[in-house]
Amino acid sequence: MYTYVVDHIPRSTKNNRRPGLAMNATTITIHNTANPSSTARNERNWLTNTSNNATASFHIVIDQREAIECIPLNEVAWHAGDGSGAGSGNRTSIGIEITESGNYPATLDNASTLVASMLRERGWGTERLRRHYDWSGKNCPRLMNTDGEWGGWESFVTAVRTKLNANAGGGDGDGGGEEEEPMLTPQDANKIIRFLSAAYMTVESEEARKEFNRLANELRRVSGQDPQPG
Ligand SMILES: [Zn+2]
Repeated sequence: MYTYVVDHIPRSTKNNRRPGLAMNATTITIHNTANPSSTARNERNWLTNTSNNATASFHIVIDQREAIECIPLNEVAWHAGDGSGAGSGNRTSIGIEITESGNYPATLDNASTLVASMLRERGWGTERLRRHYDWSGKNCPRLMNTDGEWGGWESFVTAVRTKLNANAGGGDGDGGGEEEEPMLTPQDANKIIRFLSAAYMTVESEEARKEFNRLANELRRVSGQDPQPG
């Protein structure tokens, strides 16, 4: 279980970490942070830390507690290490960083849930998944390659596929009672979500944003839609 938090870095973030280039993603790329002690919040904060001199970024970072969306999913982030050509991973792929600290099995479970829901939202299968390695040859996500043969990657893709198949009707994966008619039309639910969104935009607190995400996903659930970023 995790909370999905939207906390975008500003366009003005140094080293061009959020270039603002439009992206129509065609794949999702998986990474490990390569930092055994950082949480999702630490990774998000590092993106805007003034002592960080790297031109590197990512869309979402996930740990055992939360997924933080740091760059809008329709904008470029620099995570694939393969330049900025039109077909590069950087220009065509959503980058997800999986943290290595804390309860890693729980983090991994969260990551497969998140990725399955993102694939479902887009009508994609697991053939849309990439490793950082696939773009640039970097040994990343490194914790999925501890055997030198990417056995962990195969397991992760299988876990995502299982969740995607088990949960084709949407919801949070427990499967119970989700074949009922929606109580609210998706159109009405989305109108309410947009209205709520406008109200919460004016609130600074992370608590409030989390609550908004939770409410929005409750509305999506009762209207038969998949959970989503806020
Ligand atoms: Zn990577």
